[in-house]
Amino acid sequence: MTQSLPPLEELIACHECDLLMRHPRVGLEQKACCPRCGFELVTHRSHMRRRSLALVLTALILFVPANFLPIISLNLLGQNAVDTVWSGVLGLYNAGMEGIALVVLLCSMLVPLMKLLCQLFVLLAMPYAELRPAACYWYRVYHHMREWGMLEVYLFGILVSAVKLLDMAELHLGVGLGCFVALMLTQVWLEVTMSPHQVWDALSEKEDGHART
Ligand SMILES: [Zn+2]
Repeated sequence: MTQSLPPLEELIACHECDLLMRHPRVGLEQKACCPRCGFELVTHRSHMRRRSLALVLTALILFVPANFLPIISLNLLGQNAVDTVWSGVLGLYNAGMEGIALVVLLCSMLVPLMKLLCQLFVLLAMPYAELRPAACYWYRVYHHMREWGMLEVYLFGILVSAVKLLDMAELHLGVGLGCFVALMLTQVWLEVTMSPHQVWDALSEKEDGHART
């Protein structure tokens, strides 16, 4: 006995357990979860584009002080040292650890910046039909880069070394660290707000009518 399958656009598969089901219709600020494993399938955020744009711009503004203002200043035996993320990269490079310097540069600066720029472009391009294919490409690039941005790991590294140094030297936490934490929180908030299903739906709309965001 054969049962006719609904059109493919009406189906959705759970990311976690691959259960195939009809695409649930959700209202504003509602979410639908997989009935089998509980994974969040779709979320519909109100004013997703505007809210995400505000968060992307905030994160981009925070990016500069987070990387170039002092994270910690250290006073050891009368010697004062001020460290920023950028000076850390340079320090590693000058100490002959070019490989590690490159990894730190990639994971703490370049990849997070690229991610934010991809998100900015996707959000700006969303209402324009002619830009949507490019936006789709960059949104895919963004998803590939997600595994490479390791701000959280980096932050824990800073905190662990700060605690270890406390016994040896006088330590002051700098403005840069505050901006770094704020940047991380903004990015987490952005990930929650910029619901991927809404972005993909908006990017795959054929007509150039304004995206439902
Ligand atoms: Zn599931």
